[in-house]
Order: sequence, then structure tokens, then C-alpha cells
Amino acid sequence: MRSRREIDKNELFMYNCGRIPEKPKKGNSMADDWRLTNQELYLMGKTLYYIRYRNFSEEWDHEHCDFCWAKFSEYDGDLHEGYCTEPENARGACWICPECYNDFKERFKWRLGQSK
Ligand SMILES: [Zn+2]
Repeated sequence: MRSRREIDKNELFMYNCGRIPEKPKKGNSMADDWRLTNQELYLMGKTLYYIRYRNFSEEWDHEHCDFCWAKFSEYDGDLHEGYCTEPENARGACWICPECYNDFKERFKWRLGQSK
């Protein structure tokens, strides 16, 4: 049986990866960038893989950057490569565009994994 703590962590992960970002609140001095919405709760210190976006199922043909909501897909006009929490795209994986990666890599202490 899974511990309660483990379940909470998974729920938080699912919640954050599928969320619509909230608009920044005026006068909120805690958030120094509108893209930051508590991603440190599930992305702090993560290993990320720079990979090419590929559909992993027919029903799901795109992903969004977890910070700025930029779109990844196999279509023209969208991002085709980025930083992913998995070595290949999978359900529940979080994606981060190159721009946000560069802006937040020190703050989030990300490590780069070797993708195949
Ligand atoms: Zn981004």
C-alpha cells in the first residue's frame, strides 16, 4: 500500500502538469516573474533531458511549456525540441522550453540527463 505522503506527491504532480496557468496578481511581490507558479514544488532539482518532441499517443498531439505555456508539437510553427522530465515523451512528463530553461536553470538547480 502506498503511503499517504506518496499519494499527495503524485496528485500534486498531476495537478501541476495539467493546469492552466493563473494570471499574475497585481502587487504580488512574491512572484518576480509571471511564469513562476510554484513549479519548485515539483521541478526543483530535477534531471531534465533535451529531446525532440514526439507524440506518444494518437489522442494527445501536443504539450505546453510548464512556465510560459509555449506549445510543443510535431506541427510547423510549434516548438519541436525542449527540456523534458523524461528521457522520452510520456504521459505526465513536464516540458520546459529552451528560453524558460535558460531563465530558470540556476533557480531550480536542474541537471541535464543524457538522452539516448
Ligand atoms: Zn517556456
